[in-house]
Amino acid sequence: MSEPRRSAKNDSHCPGRQVLNINNRIRLKTRDDIMRIAEAGRIIAEIYTYLRGQTLEGISTLELDAMVESKILKAKARPSFKTVPNYSHATCISVNDEVVHGVPLKRKKIKDGDIVKIDIGVVKNGYFADSCRTFEVGHISERAGRLVAATREALAIGIAEILPGKRLGDIGWSIQQFAEGNGYTVVRDFTGHGVGFAVHEHPNVPHFGRKNSGLVLREGLVLAIEPMLNEGSEKVITLEDGWTTVTADGKLSAQFEHTVAITSDGPLVLTE
Ligand code: MG
Ligand code: MG
Repeated sequence: MSEPRRSAKNDSHCPGRQVLNINNRIRLKTRDDIMRIAEAGRIIAEIYTYLRGQTLEGISTLELDAMVESKILKAKARPSFKTVPNYSHATCISVNDEVVHGVPLKRKKIKDGDIVKIDIGVVKNGYFADSCRTFEVGHISERAGRLVAATREALAIGIAEILPGKRLGDIGWSIQQFAEGNGYTVVRDFTGHGVGFAVHEHPNVPHFGRKNSGLVLREGLVLAIEPMLNEGSEKVITLEDGWTTVTADGKLSAQFEHTVAITSDGPLVLTE
């Protein structure tokens, strides 16, 4: 899941362990915490591996959601998105022009040529991980393929900036430069976020921004980086269900997300 940009969600359900604070809001993770977040992350990664071996064409997004949920439960974990108020699914599944927070539906069947963003959150022993992949179903168009490849690369470029001493703005700047350099726009209404002790924690992580600005990154931060790239305008609209968000111009959108810890050795991806 992504964080709506302007909302400052509370992070009150701190699980009562010793936490370090910067700005009294950001909770740093110990090496042990990071290993536990990685356990949740590994469950997600294994589910994506499983899904890659499945035929998604013809099933509904609700059936896909049920498939993911049963895998999470089998791993003795829980779907973390169900802890989000007013959300009752294990996944968000956003197809083609749906950008983010697509609500799984029985009537929404996956078709040949679709690009399907499957966003999964897992909580295991109180530790949260969050990830998203865009799946290419059957024979997708060349332009869809290019967008998906660019979005995957944009995430990798953003992750490469996650080093102690770099700043939050460097992540967004690098993603934005790459995306716009390839003719795409970056969605601004939703951001990445801190993660690990809750679904969403501080800080918000915009996927655009100015180099050398914002919070200085340091060891122990764990961030969900999740660029959403659009082939047309960056503008998005949230539908009447209050969740499913689509591109305003009806053009395609793609997303990849990883949960990443900042260690003394650099970024450590916990969801692959
Ligand atoms: Mg997220
Ligand atoms: Mg997510």
